[in-house]
Amino acid sequence: ERMMEIRKQNCNSMIMKVTYYKKPVFIHQGHMQWIWDVDGTRYLDLFAGVATVSVGHCHPKVRAAAEEQLKKLWHTTNIYVYPALHEYCEKLASYLPDPLKMIYLTNSGSEANDLAMLMARLHTGNYDIITFRGSYHGGSPMTMGLTSNATYKYPVANGLGCTNTMCPDVFRGPWGGSHCRDSPVQTTRECGCAQGQCMANDQYIAQLQETLATSVPSRIAAFFGEPIQGVGGAVQYPKNFLKDTYKLVREKGGVCIADEVQTGFGRTGTHFWGFQGHDVVPDMVTMAKGIGNGFPMGAVVTTKEIAESFAKGIHFNTFGGNPLACAVASSVLDTIKEDGTQQNSLNVGTYMMTELAKLRDKYEIIGDVRGKGLQIGVEMVKDKVSRQPLPAAAMSEIFEDVKDMGVLIGKGGLYGQTFRIKPPMCITMEDADFFLAVFNKSLHNYMEKR
Ligand code: PMP
Repeated sequence: ERMMEIRKQNCNSMIMKVTYYKKPVFIHQGHMQWIWDVDGTRYLDLFAGVATVSVGHCHPKVRAAAEEQLKKLWHTTNIYVYPALHEYCEKLASYLPDPLKMIYLTNSGSEANDLAMLMARLHTGNYDIITFRGSYHGGSPMTMGLTSNATYKYPVANGLGCTNTMCPDVFRGPWGGSHCRDSPVQTTRECGCAQGQCMANDQYIAQLQETLATSVPSRIAAFFGEPIQGVGGAVQYPKNFLKDTYKLVREKGGVCIADEVQTGFGRTGTHFWGFQGHDVVPDMVTMAKGIGNGFPMGAVVTTKEIAESFAKGIHFNTFGGNPLACAVASSVLDTIKEDGTQQNSLNVGTYMMTELAKLRDKYEIIGDVRGKGLQIGVEMVKDKVSRQPLPAAAMSEIFEDVKDMGVLIGKGGLYGQTFRIKPPMCITMEDADFFLAVFNKSLHNYMEKR
């Protein structure tokens, strides 16, 4: 009744800017890949609270671990050491290659990226940071400076904490984000772009070299890159691009940071971490979202050398890595292993992309299907010739229709033109078929009316 009351008021007591749907979906229960609203309507959740519910809503094993820890200890701070913290850090470190073994725990992805930025600057003594066009690295004042997508930025100084007015901004070369840079549409099919507009890796690298030589006055502190852009719309880089970028950044004195907030924990299917698909070893890895299956948590993992430059001061975070978070996150790692989550992500994701590619060939308004594992983007266009982004009203119509047929998906991309599919990684082939049928129907409905 209380819920109904709140709904009648339409949340007048809350400032809710980010409402995806015309009428907010009032979710009150979840189990694995399913969620229910207050009226008992069931939805297949293909967005997972923005790629966050990794192993499934209220997964029984994770819930049991949380319940067990609830009885013992909730909080102490990192002034002390406690078994849950110790055990978790050992376990997480075992998932990362050498020399990435030093762990700092936070409560979110933005906090993790803030910390990584600070560490990079302290370690290198440099200031400037490179990020890619289309990137999202957080909503805190510092990380907002790293985030490229204007939708998520406020018109204030870039928030990088520089008091020197001569201080340069974050550099964003023209090389990143959009694979076909002359097209407003981000088309990335491993350089198999049907329009033949894709630049080859060496052209991107030449641009990066040029930017580094001309725009960045001195040495740089860091490069932040998502192995596959998440909010940007599942944008992938050309082969070797990240590897060559790491080399150039290191030559300029910077450290390379892989933002695995969306791509970590097996989501890409082929690897546990997205960076492993690019044949690179970063100097720092930041993570959040899937780490806690919905429990607020984040982490920075780095090398002993970088951690030591940072350890000259004190790092304090009241809640970061509290016992409950550690118990939950530890159980998430076990569950990924026991449930074969990564393999499932690969199997169902590959199947979905194959079937979505068939829809791309069938419908004039699907410009591209891309991604890896269960990190999928379906880019919508007005038509395949102009390749202009499908307008927001049309995106919304399809999106609402998909919801009305019982499936929740996400939206993203520089122009809001990409549907994003990032479900809890426990979804099945049957769920994939259900979604594909719903999506096909909604596209058909839209085309009939248009
Ligand atoms: N990095 C990436 C790649 C993200 O997608 C996000 C969140 N969408 C963040 C960082 C920020 O994480 P949080 O919202 O937990 O602060």
